[in-house]
Amino acid sequence: MSLTILRKTNLSQFVAGLLPHYRVGGPVKFNGSYAFKDIQDPEDLRLDYPTTILPPKKYLLPVRETLFSFDHSTGSITEAELPPPTVLFGVHTCDLHAIQLLDRVFTRGHIDPNYVKRRKQTLIISLECLNPCDEHSFCKSMGTLTADEGYDIHMIDLGDAYILDAISEEGQNLLKHAPVEPVTPKDMQRMNTVLNEKWSRFPYRLDFDVSELSPLLTVSMKSPLWEELGQRCLGCAACTIVCPTCFCFDVKDETDLTLTRGERARNWDSCQLDDFATVAGGHNFRQSKALRQRHRFMRKGKYILAAHEYLGCVGCGRCARACLVDITPVKVFNELYHQREAGGRS
Ligand code: SF4
Ligand code: SF4
Repeated sequence: MSLTILRKTNLSQFVAGLLPHYRVGGPVKFNGSYAFKDIQDPEDLRLDYPTTILPPKKYLLPVRETLFSFDHSTGSITEAELPPPTVLFGVHTCDLHAIQLLDRVFTRGHIDPNYVKRRKQTLIISLECLNPCDEHSFCKSMGTLTADEGYDIHMIDLGDAYILDAISEEGQNLLKHAPVEPVTPKDMQRMNTVLNEKWSRFPYRLDFDVSELSPLLTVSMKSPLWEELGQRCLGCAACTIVCPTCFCFDVKDETDLTLTRGERARNWDSCQLDDFATVAGGHNFRQSKALRQRHRFMRKGKYILAAHEYLGCVGCGRCARACLVDITPVKVFNELYHQREAGGRS
């Protein structure tokens, strides 16, 4: 742990010092909400943001990404250029946990070279959350309300200053651009007070301990709830598009009209869309919305945990905010729990 103090009045100077060397992505005001965008003016950075529409995942796994371009007339293939070294500024701890899951998914077993290249040149400055984003957050229930790894620098808001914890060599190097000061015993005392006081502001929203989630889903495969959700769901995929832990994509060749030149690109995909599970012969092995909803929640609380040792949900609440028919993880998981406790419906 290497702690320093950054006065809030010096935050813009820190960001301005990074801009000549890095692309800096951070939360900014956007259409009455907040979004992670490339920072051009340090004054645009809004570290007081509650949450963003899309998670910072889009910097590591872009919505659309060219893998390579090709030209049949010359038989040439050109690898896509990667963006410059990037600093993600102001990442909340739920999104930090989500990135740790993505790191696990894309760097073990079948390694994804594009993700690995982007991740290697991305530094993360995270931010301790001191208040819930809104009524949809359930990070405390999912164990993502704080983090002690996965970042290069972690920031804690002390009111008029941030205490910075640089845990990597790269994080220490970033501080060369920051007018930081040594911490005093009084700063340490303030930090401990801030961290102790935050917990009571966050409610537990699951009616059971998260360690019970995977076993609960195991006995809920035949719950009638899935059919109820299938009746309500619009199949719009908004819940998966905004999710920091969803990582499914589709790969397509996009050619010019002569079919001579083109690009192979990958785009985010969603298990909630009609044709996601359509295979050869037109067979769709997950045709009903009920089956798709069940698959979504099984992945969040069971399948991803079994495959990657991290839960597939970090409790950010984005899917709950995005869903027009009020299908939310908290309500689904609690309903399954109470069905099981009642003993009849699972
Ligand atoms: S499932 Fe919903 S609450 Fe959980 S991580 Fe995804 S968007 Fe956030
Ligand atoms: S956002 Fe809601 S309606 Fe849309 S696919 Fe997801 S659960 Fe269904």
